[in-house]
Amino acid sequence: MSRATQSELRLAGRMARLGTETAFEVLVRARALEAKGRDIIHLEIGEPDFDTPRNVIEAGVDALHKGWTHYGPSAGLPALREAIAEDAGRRRGVKIDASEVVVVPGGKPIIFFTMLAFIEEGDEVIYPDPGFPIYESMVHFLGARAVPIKLRESMDFALDVKELASLITDRTKLIIINSPHNPTGGVLQERDIRQIAAAIGERDIMVLSDEIYSRLVFEGRHFSIMAVEGFRDRTIMLDGFSKTYAMTGWRMGYGIMRPDLATHMARLMTNSNSCTASFTQVAGVEAVRGDQSSVDKMCQEFIRRRDLVVAALNKIPGFSCRMPHGAFYVFPNITKTGWTSKKLADALLEEASVACLAGTAFGSFGEGYLRFSVANSLENLQKALKRVAEWAKKNVA
Ligand code: PLP
Repeated sequence: MSRATQSELRLAGRMARLGTETAFEVLVRARALEAKGRDIIHLEIGEPDFDTPRNVIEAGVDALHKGWTHYGPSAGLPALREAIAEDAGRRRGVKIDASEVVVVPGGKPIIFFTMLAFIEEGDEVIYPDPGFPIYESMVHFLGARAVPIKLRESMDFALDVKELASLITDRTKLIIINSPHNPTGGVLQERDIRQIAAAIGERDIMVLSDEIYSRLVFEGRHFSIMAVEGFRDRTIMLDGFSKTYAMTGWRMGYGIMRPDLATHMARLMTNSNSCTASFTQVAGVEAVRGDQSSVDKMCQEFIRRRDLVVAALNKIPGFSCRMPHGAFYVFPNITKTGWTSKKLADALLEEASVACLAGTAFGSFGEGYLRFSVANSLENLQKALKRVAEWAKKNVA
C-alpha cells in the first residue's frame, strides 16, 4: 500500500541522545570531495593502513572452505576463547580462564554490552575527555550522568588521580580508562594504573579498561588494571583484533571478565548478534597463535611515522605537538593558530585537502587540538604535512 505522505517516525526518546563517531562523518565529506575530483589525504579514520597478515587471511579462507559458515556459541568458539585467555593473560601477567573470555564483533560491542549490563538511569559514569566518543554517547543513550575527567597535555595526557578521586560519588557505577589512549596517544604507566586503583579502593565500582591499542605501546610496557590485586572481579578488559592485526573490517574483539558476568554478556550476544562470524573466529585463532612478526613490523612503522609527523608539526606556525607513546594518532595543540578545532579541521579539509578530526570530536576538553592518524604511508604523511604547512603560512598570523 503506498501512502501520499510519509508517516512520522515515532522514535524512542533515547535515540535523540545517541551520539556518533565524527570520523565516519568526516570520511563521508572527504569522499564527496574526492567524487568531485579532489585529491584528499585521509588522516581522519582510525584504522591501520596495512593489510591483514597473509597467514590470517589464508586461515579465514580455509575456514570458509571447511564449512565454518554456521552459528557458533554466543560467547565464542572454545578454541578462540582458550587462545585469547592464554595470550591476553601472558601479556598482562595474569592467569585467565577461557570461561572469562567473550568474543564479540569488534571492540565496540564490549562498550555497548558493559553499559547495557550495568548502567541504569541516574547512574554516573566517569570517562576520559578527550576520549573515544562512544563512551559518552552510550552514557547519554542510557539516561545516565556523563562525568568526564579531563586529560591534560601538561600531564602528558595521563589522568589526574586526585581529580578522579574527587569525581567518584555513591552513584558512580563505572569508570572507563583507555591506554594507550585515543585520541592523544597517551599511555598510563604501571604507577598511574596503581594510583587509579588506589583511588577507587574497595568501592563496588566496575572498571571498563579499554586496551584495544595494547600492542601498540612505543615506550615502556603495557600494564592492565586486571593485574592489580582485588581488581579482577571489577574489571572488564576490552581488546580485539582490529588494531593489532589490521582487521578492522573483520569485526572481532573480546572482553575479559569474571565468568558469571561473561554468562550475562553471552546472553546479550544471543539477543543481538547470536555469535561472532565463525570463520573469522577460526582466523582469529591463527592471528593469536601464529607468527607475530607483522604486529612488530606495524609497530615499528608507526614509530617511524610518529617521529616524522611530530617533528614536522612542531615546525608549523601555531602548532605544537607532544610525542605520543602509543596507538597511531598525534594530537597537536593548535590554540596558537587562533582557530578553533572544528573550524581548523574544516578549513584543512576544504582548503588544504587534508582530512583530520577536531579535538572536540572527542569531547569538549578536546578544544584546542586536532587529531591526525598516522595510519597512512610516509609519502602521504609528508605530502599532507606540506599542505598543512603551506596552508598555515597563508592563514596563521
Ligand atoms: N576503543 C577505542 C579506544 C577505539 O579507538 C576503537 C576504535 O577506533 C574501539 C574501541 C573499537 O574498535 P573496533 O573497531 O574493534 O570496534
